[in-house]
Amino acid sequence: MELLIQNGIVVNADGRMQADVLVQGDRIAAVGAGLSCPGAARIDAEGCFVLPGFIDTHTHFDLDTGSARTADDFITGGRAALLGGTTAVLDFATQARGGTLQEAFDAWSEKARGCSCNYGFHMAIAQWDARTEAELPQMTRLGVTSYKLYMVYDGLRLDDGAIYAALKAAKREGALVGVHCENWDVLNRRIAEVKAAGFTGPTGHPRSRPAPVEAEAVARLMRIAELAEAPVSVVHLSTAEGLSEARRARARGQEVYLETCPQYLLLTEDCYAAPDGEKYVMSPPLRTEADKAALWAALAAGEIDYIGTDHCSFTMAQKRAYAHDFARIPNGGAGVQHRGQLLYTYGVCAGRITLEQMVQLLSAGPARCFGMDGRGAVAPGMAADVVVWDPGFTGVITDTGTAHNCDNSPFAGLAVRGRAREVLLNGQHVVAEGALIAPGCGRYIPRKGYGRCR
Ligand SMILES: [Zn+2]
Repeated sequence: MELLIQNGIVVNADGRMQADVLVQGDRIAAVGAGLSCPGAARIDAEGCFVLPGFIDTHTHFDLDTGSARTADDFITGGRAALLGGTTAVLDFATQARGGTLQEAFDAWSEKARGCSCNYGFHMAIAQWDARTEAELPQMTRLGVTSYKLYMVYDGLRLDDGAIYAALKAAKREGALVGVHCENWDVLNRRIAEVKAAGFTGPTGHPRSRPAPVEAEAVARLMRIAELAEAPVSVVHLSTAEGLSEARRARARGQEVYLETCPQYLLLTEDCYAAPDGEKYVMSPPLRTEADKAALWAALAAGEIDYIGTDHCSFTMAQKRAYAHDFARIPNGGAGVQHRGQLLYTYGVCAGRITLEQMVQLLSAGPARCFGMDGRGAVAPGMAADVVVWDPGFTGVITDTGTAHNCDNSPFAGLAVRGRAREVLLNGQHVVAEGALIAPGCGRYIPRKGYGRCR
């Protein structure tokens, strides 16, 4: 199977050029001007950008929190991802307390069967002990080379000593550890205080978890990683104060990676006062204009390494059921479909970042940081995960007009420009004119150890 993408502008993290792209099998065979290949299928990309497929570093598909099950599984979530130009997701396979990492890997492999985009797994460790530690080499063999640790949530969180030990063990495997940073003990005290003060609805959520709740945890993680002499990643960074703590660690010479999400770049805590405020309950919570500005500036300066969505979708019925008790509202929102459009519109078109930086944040950066060799660029020999991006498209995100299986989007009402008009996945033409023509073609991507990016 040969396919020729003609007349587009190829954009990689390091620059752009007018070029055709020849795909043979599941690889890019050539990139250059005036390529010809008799018999090849053709895509005319005139007026479009040709980008490496986006990689979402943070999704929760088919997750059961114990009290609620996400609206999206790998079928609906993978479909939405692909339609947005995301050709690979890194989802969180989660160890059950008392269970093994292998069991989690097997369970998530089963859940992901039939996914429309490629996928890999971060392994969330919920129990750190000698048995878990002994499983790490097997995870490496399976291509799992990143871990997630939680400082929060009963049933998931690890104490500081366990985080320290896990960081050291992961480093021996050449794996990168991402951590959810919030101070659990303090935020629970604050939940009680905020409720006692009469804030029981969604506006109580940001009051219970203000910026220092994140920043203290980031600072503590930085020091734990310093002691462990290990690289570390902060997932879904949301505050200027947390960013400052990460900068301090970098200034000490530590290897620190940062992820943020579109919601922390585009929305503020004012959303919690809206009639549908429960929609926006996620952790960490939405912040202030000043935090947004700090995160955009950090993106432009290259201080943030990748943008995940933290796609963790629940229906309005699931959320409304607890609208009177913010601490019980299922945490999370949908986002996997719109990350590219949001970054393009509010980053590139708004002049905050270049298109090359967008490619770095959505594709090249995650590919390198998470050991996805052969991905993250449109270049000969790379995997043919390619997006033909139409910059002329305009639209508005709505609650219901999305591909995911969820009746709400935190980004509803936002105007967007650009869309993934065509998508190639493993060399196969899977999205045409913005419609999914070949569902279920995703593959598991075994990864190598993370590539040092800093
Ligand atoms: Zn998450």
